[in-house]
Amino acid sequence: MELSIESCATLNNGVKMPYLGFGTYLLGTGRIAQSAILHALLAGYRHIDTAKFYRNERDISIAIKQTEIPREEIFITTKVWNNDQGYDTTLAACEQSLKQLETEYIDLYLMHWPVTDNRLETWRAMEKLFDEGKCRAIGVCNFTIKHLEELLEKSSTVPTVNQVEFHPFLFQKELLNYCRENGIQLEGYSPLTKGRKLGEPVLQSIADHYRKTPAQILIRWSLEHLVVTIPKSMNRDRIRENANVFDFSISPEDMTIMNVLNENFRTSWDPTFVV
Ligand code: NDP
Repeated sequence: MELSIESCATLNNGVKMPYLGFGTYLLGTGRIAQSAILHALLAGYRHIDTAKFYRNERDISIAIKQTEIPREEIFITTKVWNNDQGYDTTLAACEQSLKQLETEYIDLYLMHWPVTDNRLETWRAMEKLFDEGKCRAIGVCNFTIKHLEELLEKSSTVPTVNQVEFHPFLFQKELLNYCRENGIQLEGYSPLTKGRKLGEPVLQSIADHYRKTPAQILIRWSLEHLVVTIPKSMNRDRIRENANVFDFSISPEDMTIMNVLNENFRTSWDPTFVV
C-alpha cells in the first residue's frame, strides 16, 4: 500500500485517523512543549497524541492556534487517567480535557489503562460522551486480548482503537490479529523503544541499506503493518526525521528479519497481569 503523511486508517465507525501521529509524553510543558508541537505541525503531522496525565493539553491548544491549520484538519487524541475512572468522574475528566484543549470535540478519547473494577463504568461514560458528540471515536489503551474479550462481551460498542506498546522487540502479533479480526485499529506507542534499542546492529544494517536512520526504520516497520504509530521527539531535526518515512518501503525480506526480533521487551508496565 502506498502511504503518505496524510494516509489514514478508517476506524470501525468511519472516522479517519492519520497513521502517523506525534507523541507528547515527557514533552515538558509551557514554551518547550508548545515549540515542539508547533514544529510537528509545520513538519506535516496532523495527529497529536496526548493525555490528561501528560499535563500538556493546554500547550497543544496554544501551539495549534499559532498555525492557520483548521481544527478539523488535526486529529487529537487524549485519554482518561486511572484516578478519574468511574462513570461521573470520566464525564468530568472529559469536560476538563475539552476545556484545556479549547475544543468542542476530541477526535479520539481513550481509556489510559484497563483499571480493575472501574473500566466497564468508565466505558459506559465514554459511550455517552460519544453519543453526545464530545468525542468522534472512543477506544482503549493497554488492553490485552482478555480485557478486550470482556469488553466485547459486556458492551455493544466495539472500541475503535487499542493503543499498546508496539515495536519489533515487542511484536504483539496475536493481539494485532485479534484486533484486526474484531475491527479494532491497533495503535503502537513507544515505537522507538524510547530510544533504548536504536543502537541494535541489525537495525543499523537495515537502516544503512535504505540510507535511513534506525528510528525511521522502526517507524516504517509499524506503518508496513498498518499500525498507527506516534513517535515522540522534542528536537526539531528528529521531529522532521521521524516524519520522513514515506519515500521508501521495507522489502518483505527485511520485514521478515525484523519480525523475528521479538523478545517481549517492554519499556512500560505490562498490563497482562491486570485482572
Ligand atoms: P518513543 O519510542 O517515541 O521514543 C521517544 C524517545 O526517543 C525520546 O527519548 C526521544 O528523544 C527519542 N527520539 C525520538 N526520535 C528520535 C530519533 N529520530 N533518533 C533518536 N532518538 C529519537 O517513546 P514514547 O514512550 O514517548 O512513545 C511515544 C508516544 O506514545 C508517547 O509520547 C505518548 O504519546 C504515547 N504513549 C502512550 C502510552 C499509553 O499508556 N497509552 C505509554 C507510553 C507512550 P528526543 O525527544 O530528545 O528526540
